Amino acid sequence: IEILENTQIEKENKIEKEEETSVTIEDVETVVETKRISTHTHLKGLGLDEQGFAINVASGFVGQKEAREACGIVVDLIKSKKMAGRGILFTGIPGTGKTALSLAISQELGPKVPFFPMVGSEVYSSEVKKTAILMENFRRAIGLQIKEVKQVFEGEITEITPNEVENTYGGYGKVISYVIIGLKTKRESKQIRIDPKTYENLQKQKAIIGDVVYIEISTGVVRRLGRAEYLKDEYQLEVEDYCPIPKGDVNKKKEIIQDITLYDLDVANSRPKMDTKGDLFSIVGQLLQPKKTEITDKLRGEVNKLVNKYIDNGIAELVPGVLFIDEVHMLDIECFSYLNRALESAFAPIVIFATNRGVCQVRGTEIQSPHGIPLDLLDRLLIVKTLPYTVNEMAMILSIRAEVEQIKIDEDALEYLSKLGEKSSLRYVIHLLTPSNLLSKIAGRNSVTLQDVKECDTLFFDSKNSAKMLISQEDKFLK
Ligand code: ATP
Repeated sequence: IEILENTQIEKENKIEKEEETSVTIEDVETVVETKRISTHTHLKGLGLDEQGFAINVASGFVGQKEAREACGIVVDLIKSKKMAGRGILFTGIPGTGKTALSLAISQELGPKVPFFPMVGSEVYSSEVKKTAILMENFRRAIGLQIKEVKQVFEGEITEITPNEVENTYGGYGKVISYVIIGLKTKRESKQIRIDPKTYENLQKQKAIIGDVVYIEISTGVVRRLGRAEYLKDEYQLEVEDYCPIPKGDVNKKKEIIQDITLYDLDVANSRPKMDTKGDLFSIVGQLLQPKKTEITDKLRGEVNKLVNKYIDNGIAELVPGVLFIDEVHMLDIECFSYLNRALESAFAPIVIFATNRGVCQVRGTEIQSPHGIPLDLLDRLLIVKTLPYTVNEMAMILSIRAEVEQIKIDEDALEYLSKLGEKSSLRYVIHLLTPSNLLSKIAGRNSVTLQDVKECDTLFFDSKNSAKMLISQEDKFLK
């Protein structure tokens, strides 16, 4: 009885355990909202009509019509590849949509055209030269579209033994064994095709050592036999192992397109044991390997050579993308002179600069220049101006932002914020939306009221008020 009781308890324990472990995580939905809202989430493009005219409020964009239309032309030029090596400069007071415009350009260009944003101050590093950082980012903004035609076997795959091959495709067996294929010459190896029955073809086709030999087994089905090699005192054809041969003649050609950047190629080639003569696909395949060595100018030169070769052969196409350099006044004279030259190189992306500075010193010099950019570089740039917003435009931008952030806001609160934006800045009032919403929630309201935004404005300072306060209490602050 005791034994029976024990086994019963054991059984029950087991069932309990099974029940514990049978909990599944399938069909369990998260209750946490994962959507992240960033500064420019509300923007979806330039908001232009088919003729390229700016629609007053479209794709999340409000106003700035001339600037948006100018950007539309830039997008067209980039798409028609007439823009490489040129520069655009966005100028305008803070918060007037310069970064927003550049982002909208990248959205209009689509994911196939590389877009790499950076800030001028990023070039200052104690480990890497400023110009090397610029060069690296230039190459991140240049895409390469590689087209490769691959033979794809479709249909049923069956293993065929050497005997079957010999019986089915007479002569095959003879081809694979000890074939004299000629004398070693200096010609670069090539790929040749031979007829399975007449291996003398190897001689006819002047096969040499190093050639990759293909054999046509049946119409359309091609197999690689191997490389011609020198064995003992004869030139022979070494044969690779038998591999599955598709039954029937199902052999399709498939075009594979891959988008990478020149920087990706630099990284792939900087890895040890890299075979630069390998096809681009194998280079891309090595991207995931962690170890890497320094990317030198010599290596970039080698990559450029390889890329040129692929372009000449029609396998690859260059896709100049966009390098966006925000706060360009942070660059110094060394960077500017480098940019002057780099913009002229054959592999140059479209560079878009942005600055909110007026006339100021060019870093690294005593020279005063508009936007802190030397005149010779400025001369190469097409300048796009962003204008200050009207109260009405601010109200529209604020209500778009409120919608994106799922904030309900009263009319009078929106009006107050818009007027406040005119005195302070658009960015400041956009920033007040979320804390105002929090205050309204704490007070148990489901929409932001005038009282909430006013209270929020007393809690925070915008840059102008903060500066005023600094001046009025100058003597009390530490120097
Ligand atoms: P800064 O000179 O300080 O870098 P900026 O000119 O780059 O400023 P942005 O960062 O582009 O300004 O704009 C500030 C905020 O206002 C962002 O959230 C941006 O998305 C929004 N914004 C600016 N202009 C517009 C517009 N015309 N329509 C909609 N949103 C806008």
